[in-house]
Amino acid sequence: MPYCQYCGNEVGSDHRFCSRCGKELALKNSESTTENNKMSEAYVLGVVGIALIFFFFPAAPLVSSIGLYKADKTNDEKAFKLCLVGTIVSILMIVVPLSLYILYILSLML
Ligand SMILES: [Zn+2]
Repeated sequence: MPYCQYCGNEVGSDHRFCSRCGKELALKNSESTTENNKMSEAYVLGVVGIALIFFFFPAAPLVSSIGLYKADKTNDEKAFKLCLVGTIVSILMIVVPLSLYILYILSLML
């Protein structure tokens, strides 16, 4: 149940005004709490990006960097860290084998 931010009175979630003090309840306040409770879009992208590292890693840097961009725009620090890890790990997982492969090809040519 949400509480009035002015007097602390318990109010119904569908109430616009506090029944005790009559002040307008900040809808934005309750919205941001529910936004923190449910996973943000950027956070979901971060989770998907990390999951893609294991299932289809070429797509992981794309999803993670989109999440990174969204997390940056929405100041979502938790999602930002997650997406950053996803981006770095997935890029490493592409760059490291690729450079090893190139080194291998080069060693065959020499
Ligand atoms: Zn009140």
